Amino acid sequence: MNEALSPSEYPTLIADLRAGFDAGITRPLAWRRAQLDAMERMLRENEPAIGNALRRDLGKPPQEVLLGELSLVYSEIRHARRRLKRWTKPRRVHTPAVGQPGKSWVQPEPLGVVLIMGAWNYPVQLVLSPLIPALAAGNCALIKPSEIAANVSALMARLIPKYLDGRAVQVVEGAVEETTELLKQRFDHILYTGGAAVGKIVMRAAAEHLTPVTLELGGKSPCLVDEGADLKSAARRIVWGKCLNAGQTCIAPDYVLVSAEQRAPLIEAMAEELRGMYGEDLLSSRDYAKIINRRHFDRLCGYLGQGEIAIGGRFDENGQRIEPTVLTGVQPSDPVMQEEVFGPILPVLEVRDFDEAMAFVMQRDKPLAAYLFSRKKANVDCFVHAISAGNVCINDTLMFMSVPELPFGGVGMSGMGQYHGKAGFDRFSHLKAVMKRGRFPEIPVRFAPYSEFKMKLLRWLG
Ligand code: NAD
Repeated sequence: MNEALSPSEYPTLIADLRAGFDAGITRPLAWRRAQLDAMERMLRENEPAIGNALRRDLGKPPQEVLLGELSLVYSEIRHARRRLKRWTKPRRVHTPAVGQPGKSWVQPEPLGVVLIMGAWNYPVQLVLSPLIPALAAGNCALIKPSEIAANVSALMARLIPKYLDGRAVQVVEGAVEETTELLKQRFDHILYTGGAAVGKIVMRAAAEHLTPVTLELGGKSPCLVDEGADLKSAARRIVWGKCLNAGQTCIAPDYVLVSAEQRAPLIEAMAEELRGMYGEDLLSSRDYAKIINRRHFDRLCGYLGQGEIAIGGRFDENGQRIEPTVLTGVQPSDPVMQEEVFGPILPVLEVRDFDEAMAFVMQRDKPLAAYLFSRKKANVDCFVHAISAGNVCINDTLMFMSVPELPFGGVGMSGMGQYHGKAGFDRFSHLKAVMKRGRFPEIPVRFAPYSEFKMKLLRWLG
């Protein structure tokens, strides 16, 4: 455990990890499997402690601890364990005639020592989900959980050294000062999850060492409800995606675009779904998370005065809870439409038709997720092809997260680089190109002296 570690000790900590890597401890697949098993054991044996820490930091209900944090990690572990051998194998590629006799392949190799910086909203999952592919690919890792989710950060710093090989995995806790020092060190990859402003700081620091980065950022994820969509199903799934973790989800639907005729029935259906899920007194429901801290609570309450409140709008200052709130009459220039909401407030904006909704989304930064509820195949096809987003989901929200084979990550302002499943393994690997030549027969076509004949032969060989 490195709670007491001062920033002046980071170079030694990283040098030790590098020594572990250089000694080859992470190379055997048996070691990698053992780490994945140990991580699973760590979670299973400490589910109550993890649940408690998440309740204290975010008021997460037990079901959301399982759904939004643990299940995703368990499934990633299972997936990586099953496919580890396949992923690490040389990947044979075709060798053209000019390279014959010869064999060519891609040999994944670990990068070295990687830094994983988590965010506070899913503080368990966001450090462990990247750690799985980092270890599966044979790296050493330094974990920096978010200090904002303080209880989970402390728990991770206590549990990880107990279960995982300390020669290869270490945890450093801390806030801006510690992270700034950490970022001065050289790593072989940095995976950062959080907001774009700090993403730029991370990328700048990484540039000093030419360290590659994966930036898992956020943004405003749009949700289009098309003419003729199943409004009851759309309302239920939008409300669920927005209320999970009280909207503090990077891929939560940020705003809804709907036609004027469908707006009122959609909002009515949302209100009904909310009543069905949380009852009349939502602020005291144990099934609904709280806002992480006062700063975010105040920021979110500031949005409540924009447009008109169609649903919700109440808040509980002491419990740091805000009712799921639907806003109408919001202008695209209002702050709630300029910034990522990252809380349980959902602006519903009117559009003339599907084309106007598409144009609205395409004129803005590329989002992390984009949602469409539609029964029209042509519109679904158009959405899937035309919208550039990290992830697209039709007729639901968030659910693509349950598919380990779907790469996860943003594009443009919502981030760079993907992980989960094989994408994660490849992200934390260098895909080394290897060619092995046979010695006979030697076709001398490439050697001088050059001739017309050799020229013709070269053209023929392509
Ligand atoms: P945060 O405040 O927890 O910060 C993330 C990390 O950056 C932490 O480890 C923190 O210690 C570090 N950090 C903070 N300030 C720093 C500084 N000045 N210098 C160096 N490091 C610093 O998280 P946040 O930024 O509030 O996260 C919210 C954002 O993250 C939202 O935009 C959300 O959409 C996004 N997010 C993205 C994903 C994803 O997977 N793409 C997941 C969760 C959150």
